[in-house]
Amino acid sequence: MTRTRTPSRSAAHRRRGPQLSVDPIACAAHGLCADLLPDHVGLDEWGYPILDHGRSSGPIGADQLPHARAAVSACPTLALRLDHPRDPS
Ligand code: SF4
Repeated sequence: MTRTRTPSRSAAHRRRGPQLSVDPIACAAHGLCADLLPDHVGLDEWGYPILDHGRSSGPIGADQLPHARAAVSACPTLALRLDHPRDPS
């Protein structure tokens, strides 16, 4: 019988990386986030952001992190957030 090792929960969290989320109440459909982070943010027909998987994005890779931070900083209503998964302890 072969045993496979499963990664620890904290390792899985680290691998997931930060994720974007949008507060749909605060968002005013300016669309800046889609301009600054087109790989993770699209816009619906009214100009509201559509992230990778609905209300939160997939993990943001290291190569996209500067763009994600720029998009969060540029959001005029503070609706766009970059959340970092916490290690369970
Ligand atoms: S930049 Fe902010 S307010 Fe504008 S569409 Fe993106 S999340 Fe909404």
